[in-house]
Amino acid sequence: TVGAVALDRDGNLAAATSTGGTILKWPGRVGDSPLPGAGYWAENGVCAVSVTGIGEFIIRAMASFRVSTLIKSGVSIGDAVRQVVDYVTKLFGSDNIGLIAIDSSGNVASAFNTEVMGRAWGREGMNKVTVAHYPNDPFP
Ligand code: ASP
Repeated sequence: TVGAVALDRDGNLAAATSTGGTILKWPGRVGDSPLPGAGYWAENGVCAVSVTGIGEFIIRAMASFRVSTLIKSGVSIGDAVRQVVDYVTKLFGSDNIGLIAIDSSGNVASAFNTEVMGRAWGREGMNKVTVAHYPNDPFP
């Protein structure tokens, strides 16, 4: 997966997720990536989220929409991504999900239950809430 989230100067939030799908997928399989609320979600005033991992689990968790509902209820973006990864890990075990997210104030966060997840932020001085998970984050 390649995912991106963005906030523009007018406060617009956007998310994009692209994927080749999972290995040995059935013909016709639709993963999470094209499904709003699963592989991506963006909502002005709240957050933008992009998700990678095993689509079947991400869909069942509605992972990206779950991040936005947590933020709407007052949870910080760092805690929100962490809670969603914990939720998926509890249901389906580890090594199956990673998220990046940005909120309407420009705070960015990521969480994952895999060994590594490559990611980068685009602007020097941007607020940054990096949340690492299982087992360690070699690239904090
Ligand atoms: N989420 C994708 C899928 O299940 C796989 C990926 O993350 O690349 O189709």
